[in-house]
Amino acid sequence: MPPSDPKRARSKPPAAPWKPPSRARVLRVRDRLRDVYGIPLMRPHGHPIAELVLTVLSQSTNDRNRDVAFLRLRTRFPSWEAVRDAPVAEIEEAIRPGGISKVKSVRIQAILRAISDDPRRPISDRSPHGLSLDWLPRAPLLQARDYLVALPGVGRKTAACVLLFAYGLRDVPVDTHVSRVGARLHLLQGGAPLQRLHDQMLALTPPGQELELHVNLLRHGRRTCHARSPACSRCALARMCPSRALFR
Ligand code: SF4
Repeated sequence: MPPSDPKRARSKPPAAPWKPPSRARVLRVRDRLRDVYGIPLMRPHGHPIAELVLTVLSQSTNDRNRDVAFLRLRTRFPSWEAVRDAPVAEIEEAIRPGGISKVKSVRIQAILRAISDDPRRPISDRSPHGLSLDWLPRAPLLQARDYLVALPGVGRKTAACVLLFAYGLRDVPVDTHVSRVGARLHLLQGGAPLQRLHDQMLALTPPGQELELHVNLLRHGRRTCHARSPACSRCALARMCPSRALFR
């Protein structure tokens, strides 16, 4: 349909194409977030399989229900091998508080079986019944990431969670909060596919500050830059945010 006022339609400037942020801008945003939220201190926990399972359990639920489901699973089964080999109905029952347990129980077992069966695992790491990803931090980073995203239902975000939280390796999970806040601050390209957002996030993050940027953008999304009604009037980043005017 033609615009009712062609002159006005012509005078509206086209949206500027997204450009990767300069290093100086990234550092300004990082510093402002650091002023508000500090520098997160979380040591890598060294449990990649637990991280994978936890990420599956976190889908479509809150942190509390996820943690209850995870604890029940760990209490009822003595090992990940036992989780893998149990009747699926028992897994489903154990993780029921985490929601959509029918889907999640199948997915968890599929991942555990794929880890057991994968012929690409180094020979030294294979045992007939054992489940281990201890070789991951010794592999080249891209190989480790490719391995993880080839597991059933595992995408870039989950792979990044495993690499960063379990081993402190260089990757940055882009979840719903990080992608929203990053896009509003024009650090990330709004609407880009998740794969590309992860590449952009990785490119802009100073080495060694993966955890800090991830956690502080996430905190900002939870506490201030909400999805529906961001609290721009009390936002510490308002003066450097190109999206502020959109929410007046
Ligand atoms: S000014 Fe508003 S849109 Fe920008 S980061 Fe702050 S809360 Fe989010």
